Amino acid sequence: MSGYAPRVQWKRTDLKRAGFRAHTVLDFDGNSGAPISDPARFCWNLNTSRAGGRRSGAMSSCAPVFLLDGFGNTRLNGGIRHCMSEPLSKNIFWTQGKVTAEQRAHLSGHSGCVIWITGLSASGKSTIATELERELFSQGKFTYLLDGDNTRHGLCSDLGFSPEDRRENIRRVGEVVRLFADAGIICITAFISPYRSDREEARRIAPPGKFIEVFVNAPLEVCEHRDPKGLYARAHTGEIKEFTGVSAPYEPPVNPELELHTDKLSVAECVSAILAKLDQMSAIIDGAPAADGKKD
Ligand code: ADP
Repeated sequence: MSGYAPRVQWKRTDLKRAGFRAHTVLDFDGNSGAPISDPARFCWNLNTSRAGGRRSGAMSSCAPVFLLDGFGNTRLNGGIRHCMSEPLSKNIFWTQGKVTAEQRAHLSGHSGCVIWITGLSASGKSTIATELERELFSQGKFTYLLDGDNTRHGLCSDLGFSPEDRRENIRRVGEVVRLFADAGIICITAFISPYRSDREEARRIAPPGKFIEVFVNAPLEVCEHRDPKGLYARAHTGEIKEFTGVSAPYEPPVNPELELHTDKLSVAECVSAILAKLDQMSAIIDGAPAADGKKD
């Protein structure tokens, strides 16, 4: 029975260094499970166990479930669980399905992925996203489009445009697209998603290697000139508060998979560029490996 006095340090240092969110938190109700003797071994366990039927080497998309009992003993409980944030409820368990993402991809001929389109309002996200989806669908791909305005009618109808609400908006969307991608769908999103950290979080929880960030980059003046919904004009009069590019920040991607200058490219050229990128990264949506590990 070894007590770990610097448990908080575990949280802040060892686990964070191992790629986990700093606030992966501990429970104190004690439980059965394999005792973990030290942080190094703990991380080793995570590295070498399996999560959700695939290797947990993609630790960035996993979080450990572990417990501290009242004596300071640390126990790994139930392996590894995929999550984005620590759930409030303690009495929940992960149910492992019997159909894998690989099997779904085998059936449909391609795997799921996320095409995350970000940019200022009126930069062209929705226009490109709808054309892209139409094109992929016509090629026989399973697709779905999530558009910022649409999800604010339902899933996110309780959210406004404060930094906290924007974060929660993207957190929810990130979770939804993760599910779509896992279901084998090519999921296209059109969200301003102004904060870099929020986009990175969406990437972090997406199936590893299946997140394509597309920066739709048009100068603010061009977007203001287009202003298809009249929003910039209303933002400038102060009628609309916290408007991205006018009274709220936009943090451009540092290293997106693709950057499209929509002031110079046509819609068709933008769609072609994304399709070419998908081709170039063909492993992203290629059919699943056959049982022997080779492609069909
Ligand atoms: P967002 O979804 O980013 O708010 P929208 O797609 O709703 O932007 O509006 C963009 C506007 O810009 C549309 O009126 C569209 O026709 C126009 N536009 C002009 N050139 C392009 C381009 N290359 N790509 C996308 N949209 C363009």
